[in-house]
Amino acid sequence: MAGFVAASKPESASREARMAWVLDLLEQQLHHHSGGPFAAAVFAGEALAPLAVGLNRVEATCCSHAHAEMVALAAAEQRVGSYSLAGASCQLVTSCEPCAMCFGAIPWSGVVSLVCGAASEDARAIGFDEGARHPQWQQQLAQRGVAVQTGVHRDRARMLMARYAAAGGTIYNGMAGSAVPARMPA
Ligand SMILES: [Zn+2]
Repeated sequence: MAGFVAASKPESASREARMAWVLDLLEQQLHHHSGGPFAAAVFAGEALAPLAVGLNRVEATCCSHAHAEMVALAAAEQRVGSYSLAGASCQLVTSCEPCAMCFGAIPWSGVVSLVCGAASEDARAIGFDEGARHPQWQQQLAQRGVAVQTGVHRDRARMLMARYAAAGGTIYNGMAGSAVPARMPA
């Protein structure tokens, strides 16, 4: 995955190109069976150059909050050396609308815009739980200074999630228990 990131970048400055790049990254994830069907990236500055990427790592890392958006935001914050991206004019591009947890994390990160591919209902359609997110979530983010754009390359993002499910990828839902029994520390 690092090779993909190092060897490529979005071909143009459009949000569609940034989303296409994130979905290319997601295709790599699915090809390598390295995690859930979600990818994200943070782009920074006036040129919105790639700053950090994140892939869903919930199952691989035994971590319920290792969603692609959380991984990408943490990597971006570490890269700029601050808990806030507010000074870096950052945009979060995510292959699917944020779940309740990621929605909550977005304002804390200091990003100023959010671009989403698939809709939450697309994730729910294959069995993922998106959590108790407010129906007016887009307006709430806008009120906190985060501009939201949804449905960018939605069909491709949805198709990739469906491919993951059809291939037998784990549909993890913490509240419903795990396919893998939890180990109690000795
Ligand atoms: Zn999430």
